[in-house]
Amino acid sequence: MTDLAGHWYPEHSSAQAVATLELDQQTYRLQADGQVFQGKQATLNFSQRIGNIPRRITFSDGSVFVCEDNDAIDRWLGQVHHHDGRFHLLHRLESQWRWVILSLVVVFVFSLGFIWKGIPWISTEIARSMPIEVYQKLGSGTLMGLDKWLLRDSELPDEVQDRINLRFEKILNSIDQDEYHFQLHFRSMKNLANAFALPSGDIVVTDALVALAERDEELDSVLMHEIAHVVQRHGLQQIIHSSALTVIIALLLGDATAISNIAIALPAFLLESSYSRRHETEADDYALEKMVQAGIDPVHFANMMRKFMALEANGGAKAENASATENKINSYLSSHPATQERIERALEYAGRRAGS
Ligand SMILES: [Zn+2]
Repeated sequence: MTDLAGHWYPEHSSAQAVATLELDQQTYRLQADGQVFQGKQATLNFSQRIGNIPRRITFSDGSVFVCEDNDAIDRWLGQVHHHDGRFHLLHRLESQWRWVILSLVVVFVFSLGFIWKGIPWISTEIARSMPIEVYQKLGSGTLMGLDKWLLRDSELPDEVQDRINLRFEKILNSIDQDEYHFQLHFRSMKNLANAFALPSGDIVVTDALVALAERDEELDSVLMHEIAHVVQRHGLQQIIHSSALTVIIALLLGDATAISNIAIALPAFLLESSYSRRHETEADDYALEKMVQAGIDPVHFANMMRKFMALEANGGAKAENASATENKINSYLSSHPATQERIERALEYAGRRAGS
């Protein structure tokens, strides 16, 4: 039971009387002006707490009890079932900064978690559930466009192309993959050592890359890695990532054009490249695993990476992980340390293979 001291104001009267109000689980009891009024507590209306302004408790007859003991009223509202109790909760949340900070932290962590883990997970699921026909269509037009704008005919002699095609077929047999229609395309690209895969299974290899690989196994390792991008459906996942990011940024800022602002574009870009680094790691793991299975020493993968690094250090070609979204900033910011990690990972596999 709660006893409140205050003043009572009858309706349509400026008179006031010293009064006490007893509040119970179910009932109230008001003593004022020598009289006693009783009733169900549910018929009382409590004004919302605003700082330390005295509370107004209105009775069904229109009379009002005014009381300064906000804390006692809030305690009582917190203990019983009353329709004004929600104000009490609201007030408690508002007035206790710890709750506010905690909720902010929770919202922040969940948002980060969603961006960090949720988006990749969702895009993986969507990409996985797409029928294979979608992927075939994604490839055919793209290669034509690339041929028009970016790629030139290969100058590799036919016998070299035939030899590589033969090895590629051997690789495909070893990975036991018949869902995709893989095909190698030899092109040149301004002396850039590059290989990339389209979602359809079309894999483009440049003359400079073939020249860079001193051993067949080194080229095999790059091809395995590109096959992994196709099988793991990374191309479509990247499209979904960047669309999702654009939507989220637009929702947060209420303006999609803001993505052209560098302050927003850079974090978005860093997120994008972290997603694509994740893809590189996934593709590497797949490639290294399959190399071990096919009896190819993963050390060749490490050697190939070292050659890319040396090329890049000379300002020559960009790294092999050449998705269209990756550009110079990305390779400067991320692929240098990343490439070293990739080499170490390959050596790990090579060590495991030697140990088994
Ligand atoms: Zn890659």
